[in-house]
Amino acid sequence: MDQEFGHKSLLCSDTLYQYILDTSVYPREPECLKELRHRTENHPKNYMAVSADEGQFLSILLKLMNAKNTMEIGVFTGYSLLATALALPEDGKILALDINRENYEIGLPVIEKAGVAHKIDFKEGPALPILDQLFSDEKNHGTFDFIFVDADKDNYINYHKRLIELVRVGGVIGYDNTLWYGSVAMPPEAPLPMDDLIRPYRDFVVELNKALAADKRIEICQLPVSDGITICRRVI
Ligand code: SAH
Ligand code: CA
Repeated sequence: MDQEFGHKSLLCSDTLYQYILDTSVYPREPECLKELRHRTENHPKNYMAVSADEGQFLSILLKLMNAKNTMEIGVFTGYSLLATALALPEDGKILALDINRENYEIGLPVIEKAGVAHKIDFKEGPALPILDQLFSDEKNHGTFDFIFVDADKDNYINYHKRLIELVRVGGVIGYDNTLWYGSVAMPPEAPLPMDDLIRPYRDFVVELNKALAADKRIEICQLPVSDGITICRRVI
């Protein structure tokens, strides 16, 4: 059985989180996602991967939306990417951006075996210049049904400026880690777990949350799934 101690869910009870995983998530997790998750388990940065319950959430959201043309910023070894690829129709597309191809290649054989690699267009490099290039061609405006953002938190506001034009009206941008290990609600000087990792980005996430809440172009829903995901639906 997969024991998720030290997990990143913000649920206060480990037992309750384990209950959710054991009852509703792991029994329904596709074999290929399980395989990819286990393949990444011992990676020193495995804490970055999307958790199985969040993968399940993304999958059902994409299906409810009938999403077809999507983007992912921040791939790592591909858990959320494979969850997305499985949820899209045969002719669905994912533009996948990451500065690191090596980690993507850890999960790639599993993605290929699952028969969904043809949906993925992986581009290696910092996301911002790639977004600027997409943005510069008006034909790309309003063309994405769904965009999942899970990369450098200090750039989320910069991403949002571009993504809000690239997503279609009625489409969704999902920003991951918007509760940032709970630090957003703690006083700035409070001691934090994994302080070196969390503190430098805390204020960026706090500012992002304020900006999203004030942005009249979107409706938002802040979910406490995993480390917090903010669902933004473009309305104008
Ligand atoms: N969604 C992934 C986890 C992503 S972790 C999963 O489910 O496993 C964050 C990723 O963002 C890392 O792989 C990192 O290489 C990437 N990243 C960091 N800065 C970036 C940038 N400027 N542009 C694109 N990707 C970036
Ligand atoms: Ca994340």
